[in-house]
Amino acid sequence: MAIASPPVPVQEDLNPFHIAKQQFETAAAKLNLEPGLRAMLSSPRRCLVLSLPIRMDDGTIKVFDGYRVQHNVARGPGKGGIRYHPGVTLDEVKALASWMTWKCATVNIPLGGAKGGIICDPHKLSKGELERLTRRYAAEISVIIGPDRDIPAPDVYTDGQIMAWIMDTFSMMAGGSAPAVVTGKPIFLGGSLGRNEATARGCVFVIREACREKNINLKHSTVSIQGFGNAGSIAADLLYHEGAKVIAVSDSKSGVMNQRGLDVPALLKHKQKTGSVAGFPGSEPIDNAKVLEAECDILIPAALENQITAANADRIKAKIVAEAANGPTTPAADQILHKKGVMVLPDILANAGGVTVSYFEWVQDLAADFWDEDVVNKKLEKVMVRSFNDVLAMATTHNVDMRTGAFILAIDRVAVATRTRGVWP
Ligand code: NAD
Repeated sequence: MAIASPPVPVQEDLNPFHIAKQQFETAAAKLNLEPGLRAMLSSPRRCLVLSLPIRMDDGTIKVFDGYRVQHNVARGPGKGGIRYHPGVTLDEVKALASWMTWKCATVNIPLGGAKGGIICDPHKLSKGELERLTRRYAAEISVIIGPDRDIPAPDVYTDGQIMAWIMDTFSMMAGGSAPAVVTGKPIFLGGSLGRNEATARGCVFVIREACREKNINLKHSTVSIQGFGNAGSIAADLLYHEGAKVIAVSDSKSGVMNQRGLDVPALLKHKQKTGSVAGFPGSEPIDNAKVLEAECDILIPAALENQITAANADRIKAKIVAEAANGPTTPAADQILHKKGVMVLPDILANAGGVTVSYFEWVQDLAADFWDEDVVNKKLEKVMVRSFNDVLAMATTHNVDMRTGAFILAIDRVAVATRTRGVWP
């Protein structure tokens, strides 16, 4: 008699665009969306695929691949960051662009979804090479971006300097000055006060609301954070000043832990001085997986996609997962966490503070009228608290998790705009 072989474990599909489509389909089914509209909203409207030849410092020419994707612009111009990372793929950019559509709709700002990326390791480029790569990319995407078309912003490994080069290249080609073509610019070039901290600040506002819902005292809570860049390190700092204990953090090189709470301001200085959190005095080293699985109230993934999967979701001990990163949790992991009673604050809500203040920056640029930081932060708080409550109400009404609730809310708003505009021609 033949012996049955053991079941082969089903491999999770970690393609970010497939995941984004699956999230969309789950919510679209709840909305009974008509098939034509469903097809329109599930695919990106436009994908620009680029070959970017750059003269390197040693005189050789190297060709980089780049992308700009516009997913949906029914509610307003496209909006979305630009990522410089060796792991960028077209499907990742398509996923990120679609999440931008749903994010802008979740927080109800009049913008659509877009995203860009270049396959490169910016840490291995000189400043001159980085500038030439950025300007070449800006020139190539200038055919589809613009203050009323598509407005880029920073994302992983891009910053205000890169936004300034894009703004300058676009302005030079247009023969004028177009500060509203990008957001996340330095303040003296038309940036907004509070933009640098906005993603983390928005995330902390929704964590505060979620803590209230879950009866957790934020001031006595424990927090673990994966990723110590713009989103992660500023969230750590804000939560530390709220009185929470940040017990573990990691970056791409290492992780550090102290059950009694890390001294976050000192850790920020250490990271600035050494380039990593590794070796922070008064902490123990831990690996990335342990940061995700740490015993804590709040877990903040703030690095890249697919960090919480079917393989580790069961070992997550946090009561709240606040997705500062885009796409850190897979659909299979979502189900496991939901069953365990973990409240996942989805990326399209939890990190929407960044795009919300980018929207404020764009408004300020167009009006040439700049706001005080406390005005920006107060407006941001209002948007985040209202959006948290909208998503919670939708999740409760449909008896679904917070991600599906946010998707239902967002898809419905984009569907109404698309139906009303009609299909051209
Ligand atoms: P960043 O470049 O400032 O920081 C990225 C951080 O992640 C760095 O500390 C890096 O060391 C760390 N990292 C990379 N790989 C890692 C790994 N395997 N394990 C642990 N850490 C790792 O980028 P950011 O702007 O903070 O973006 C982080 C996430 O937040 C991304 O998913 C991004 O799309 C999302 N996000 C950012 C913004 C924003 O305004 N910056 C807005 C919305 C969403």
